[in-house]
Amino acid sequence: MKVFGANELLEDVFEKNLCIGCGACTYLCPYFRSYRGKTAILFPCNLTQGRCWAYCPKVEVDLDDLSERFFGRPYEKDPLGFHRSVKISKAGRQVSEGSFQAGGTVSALMSFALSKGYISAAALTDREGLRPVPRLAQSTDDILRCSSSKYTASPTLSALNQAINEGHNQIGVVGTPCQVLAIAQMRSNPMGDKDFSDPVSLVVGLFCTWAVDFREFDAFISERIEGSRITKVDIPPPPAEIMEVYTDNGKIEIPLDEIRELVPNTCSYCTDMTAEFSDISVGVLEGRPDMNTIITRTERGEKIVDEARKEGFLILDDIGKENLEHLIWAAGNKKKRAFIKAKQEGMLNAREEGARCYLRVRPETVEEIIA
Ligand SMILES: Cc1cc2nc3c(=O)[nH]c(=O)nc-3n(C[C@H](O)[C@H](O)[C@H](O)COP(=O)(O)OP(=O)(O)OC[C@H]3O[C@@H](n4cnc5c(N)ncnc54)[C@H](O)[C@@H]3O)c2cc1C
Ligand code: SF4
Ligand code: SF4
Repeated sequence: MKVFGANELLEDVFEKNLCIGCGACTYLCPYFRSYRGKTAILFPCNLTQGRCWAYCPKVEVDLDDLSERFFGRPYEKDPLGFHRSVKISKAGRQVSEGSFQAGGTVSALMSFALSKGYISAAALTDREGLRPVPRLAQSTDDILRCSSSKYTASPTLSALNQAINEGHNQIGVVGTPCQVLAIAQMRSNPMGDKDFSDPVSLVVGLFCTWAVDFREFDAFISERIEGSRITKVDIPPPPAEIMEVYTDNGKIEIPLDEIRELVPNTCSYCTDMTAEFSDISVGVLEGRPDMNTIITRTERGEKIVDEARKEGFLILDDIGKENLEHLIWAAGNKKKRAFIKAKQEGMLNAREEGARCYLRVRPETVEEIIA
């Protein structure tokens, strides 16, 4: 794959309003920084090739190439991506109580991996008021402090870049599907660095239908509640159609239609609901807010889930037929909508000499997905 630099990143991603602020391009060099939910370039950079462009999940992502690298096969139409199992889960008795979003599966997996020495640190997302804050967790307490979902797009991967800069080489990461895509690109050594060794040991992906823009969400909420009083934000599964914002003094409910206005346009091109390039993906189980859906994809993911269960960090059970069918339907719907939109707007498989595009994937797969 030909790699380009910061000028092309500005042209392909920033000027097209595709940046989700994932943090993959920040702290790689002195130029890119994240400030209050926005990624910005501080000074012009004229290098013709850069990791910023190469890692970005919003330009020239070759799904077939990544799928070959991670799963030994081209990208297929399966709404859930390549996977070994789909089950339901929650944190087991070995995990201390935390303010989990649902069953605490993600915090349990990270705590287990850290306790076994499978990872030396985890790039996670904490919050200050409403603002999501990237954190490098190095203890179980740090992991538990980062539990619960921040429904704003977060520059979490800047914590991964900082961990690599500090010399960590066994890093765990928890991220949304776009962040997981950036990590997959990073792990495939797109710059062809001869001394490259993969610094990431475990990737746990979160299901994601959309995230909201932090600045817009902050402005919207501050008209209703003081940000520092917020203790948790939740989106109960359909048919509720509300966002619940908990404070030290109760909760308020906001219709989801009002919240969807705050979702950046880039989420409408996102084809992945279940973080298809992770080791393990986790979502909320519909109808059971105390449980998660858990998808294992890689051999490593399967081994960690199995060991975590045996050692009391995780409780696993079979998923009901209706839950599985609905998950496949929801993920398929998101994928189909995004592929149709990207195709209509000429963002797939650019063929002209030197042309760059959003996604590359075999045209026959695209046709199968949008059929
Ligand atoms: C933006 C967003 C949208 C989501 N949409 C859906 C959805 O449509 N359907 C669904 O089933 N589930 C969705 N989820 C996932 C769900 O909310 C839970 O995160 C997941 O089920 C894990 O629950 P848990 O109890 O195991 O998490 P916990 O054990 O509480 O851990 C949560 C983990 O999420 C990480 N995290 C929190 N916020 C962010 C963020 N903004 N970016 C990256 N990492 C973060 C934290 O670092 C923490 O490790 C979404 C999550 C996010 C952040
Ligand atoms: S890598 Fe992430 S933060 Fe950087 S331009 Fe791409 S989407 Fe935006
Ligand atoms: S919908 Fe896609 S692009 Fe938007 S936050 Fe979720 S994973 Fe990222």
